[in-house]
Amino acid sequence: MSVHINPDPTLQNNLMSFGWECTIPNSLILGIQNKNISEIENNADIIGISGITSVSECFNRFYSGKLLEIRGEGMLPFFVTPEHPVLVMNNIQQNNKTVIGDIPFWCKAENLLEKHSHKTGHSLIIPRNKLFIDISLLDLQIFRKGPKGRMSATEFPLNENTAWILGLYTAEGSPNDVGIQFSLHKKEIFLINKIKEISKKELKHSVYLRTKENCTIANISSKILSRAFPFWCGKGAKNKKIPDFVLFNKDEKILKSFIDGYFLGDGCITISKGTKNRSAVTTSKILALQLQLSFARMGIFSHVYLSKKAGIEKILGRYCKTNNKYSILINLNLKRTFIKITDSFIIVPIRKIKKVDYFGNVYNIKTNDNTYLLSNAVVHNCDKGWHPLIQELIDELNKLPDEIEVLQVKEKYAGLRFYVSGASEKAYKIISLYENYSYHICEYCGKFWTAKERVNHGWYKTLCDKHTKKWLDGTLYESKWKKFWRLLFYKLTGKYR
Ligand SMILES: [Zn+2]
Repeated sequence: MSVHINPDPTLQNNLMSFGWECTIPNSLILGIQNKNISEIENNADIIGISGITSVSECFNRFYSGKLLEIRGEGMLPFFVTPEHPVLVMNNIQQNNKTVIGDIPFWCKAENLLEKHSHKTGHSLIIPRNKLFIDISLLDLQIFRKGPKGRMSATEFPLNENTAWILGLYTAEGSPNDVGIQFSLHKKEIFLINKIKEISKKELKHSVYLRTKENCTIANISSKILSRAFPFWCGKGAKNKKIPDFVLFNKDEKILKSFIDGYFLGDGCITISKGTKNRSAVTTSKILALQLQLSFARMGIFSHVYLSKKAGIEKILGRYCKTNNKYSILINLNLKRTFIKITDSFIIVPIRKIKKVDYFGNVYNIKTNDNTYLLSNAVVHNCDKGWHPLIQELIDELNKLPDEIEVLQVKEKYAGLRFYVSGASEKAYKIISLYENYSYHICEYCGKFWTAKERVNHGWYKTLCDKHTKKWLDGTLYESKWKKFWRLLFYKLTGKYR
């Protein structure tokens, strides 16, 4: 073997592509919008292995067959089709010792192995977020309603103090007619005083207190904040979230402060089986997954699990509908040897793989760094078409005596780009030959007969006639099911819809 692939998986564009049926519609995709995969649109900003990346295409199609439900230790499960590539690390049992690999690689879901004690298996990979938002002032003008109305501040300073308030709000706060309020126990004097102090110093607002029985409500009167806080931190317990400008802020202290505020509200310290745990419970899946990523960023592994399923519950004599409850738990003094933390990743063993029957649409997306996260585990994005071409190129290069390192493989302006180091002149000739071939191979289906470069609104693609027409119609990635109904409609009415 003379061709080595650069271990950075973000650079291995089309190298491992198997097809595009992938995951179930309600798989939550974290990012700026935090939507289910079925609601994701082109250009959405989502989290991939390299940090924030954007979605360039969305696919869905009908699928009937097996799905795999995969769950890592302390992670929520996710569902993929058997051929979907998941980024993993080897987790090898050697002389009563577990050796976790250093280089991540792509593995088809159907080839994944559960990791149990005394057995070899695979580990999933949680990325430790790369950060990009450098912001210390937030504009409040957009939350102003109408030109009138007194406005005491036009900007919201983002610092450790205000991040703490945002964190506490995410746990205990809600908007009301005149501002935002925090419901606290009247004995929580420390919290009450801190809210007062920060509000006065940073927000130039005084805090009004109302005590009823054991509960003290602290009110910050500001109509603008009553619109800004729910917009930033989510409205209603089920939709609570960490604002993007906190989660991805370059200044880690801001995120840390937010989490401190949040845990003072929703969290507690528990002792179980002699170990000290810091935990919190939320009905927001977005928040639970974001917290796991936030701790990962700080180099801490946190467990996230469904602690209570949604259902009907009798509360104070009445039957009420309850939401899913997620727990986030950090073990404070147990050393976890089965988890490996590197500068870039948290490596977590797969504990359960289950086959389930599925009948319905499945979804996939193409992203700029070729990855996205399912329940915080890195999976490959969707791609097809040039895969056999690239495989053949690698096979050709392998016949040479050269020691070649592949640095990056990608598509640019409708053509394949294959960047290497250590290649001889002969190898470069082969590479440029295959790069030229790519301009004559449909990147959707891999056929070459009518394939050529196409342009549409500044986008370049190499497609065959059939797929160009579909591309221009916007039906290139239409599902079989949708196509069936469209054709049936045509048959019945004689009209195309
Ligand atoms: Zn085609």
